[in-house]
Amino acid sequence: MPELTDLSVIRTLCEKYDFALSKGFGQNFIINPGLPPKIVDASGVDKNWGVLEIGPGIGVLTKELAQRAAKVVSIEVDERLPPLLAETMAGVDNFKLVLQDVLKVDLRALIEEEFPGMPVAVCANLPYYITSPILTALLEAECFESVTVMVQKEVAQRIAAQPGSADYSAFTVFCQYYAQPELLFDVPAHCFLPQPKVTSAVIHLRTRQEKPWDILDKDVFFRTVRASFAMRRKKLSNGLASGFPELGKQGAAEVLQAAGFDANVRGETLGIPEFARIANEIVRRRGEK
Ligand code: SAM
Repeated sequence: MPELTDLSVIRTLCEKYDFALSKGFGQNFIINPGLPPKIVDASGVDKNWGVLEIGPGIGVLTKELAQRAAKVVSIEVDERLPPLLAETMAGVDNFKLVLQDVLKVDLRALIEEEFPGMPVAVCANLPYYITSPILTALLEAECFESVTVMVQKEVAQRIAAQPGSADYSAFTVFCQYYAQPELLFDVPAHCFLPQPKVTSAVIHLRTRQEKPWDILDKDVFFRTVRASFAMRRKKLSNGLASGFPELGKQGAAEVLQAAGFDANVRGETLGIPEFARIANEIVRRRGEK
């Protein structure tokens, strides 16, 4: 099979199958031949690994993954792509296509069924219009050892941000609760067909098998995080009071004090251990009532 990053090969395939790239599905295909091996290197997979890919497109990253991993399962939503993939992936017997919207797939069940007893990594060039919902689903599934994805550079920076920085957000805390992110390298727009309007970046998330914090109630923890970022640059007690109306302003101030924080503390400067202290204090107060 000729090189799938070659523009003339892509054009021939598109003509043969009457396929036009869809903006709606976030289709920006890789046309830089050095990129698929580099992304697979970053994922660290070898023949002991199962890999879940999201959005194979015409299979440019999929082929590289199938060469290096034990098995690759790719979830693709575009119903026009299976005939193209049948041609580009012909003869590759450790590859399986699942034609579905990734956001509607029961990921844990799929992984259990397809990769019994195997460590599983995600490796993908994600469709940018649904990056956050996909990452949320992948991390919440808690069945992957790592997630290596190409995303918009801004999103990668947000995922890897430190407390107090402009990029730090509730989504940062969410991702860092589940995984340890490492920003790897930028990918310029000219590496894709068509060129996206933004720079991309590859990020590797090593998922946490054990969470190193004592968090009494995960839902209260994430509610605390969301409430803390909902009113950026305002006092945290105000954010808490509106995120937890049952506390009231007085209660929110008491929670902060009991957790050992100054009344003027701002949410965007806190890390996971600090959010955990506040959330645990809210849980304790509830228990006392
Ligand atoms: N992997 C290919 C590459 O790197 O050239 C294509 C990547 S392209 C950025 C994103 C892919 O995700 C497309 O194939 C698109 O059809 C697919 N996609 C978009 N939305 C999806 C969804 N909800 N579920 C599964 N795949 C989706």
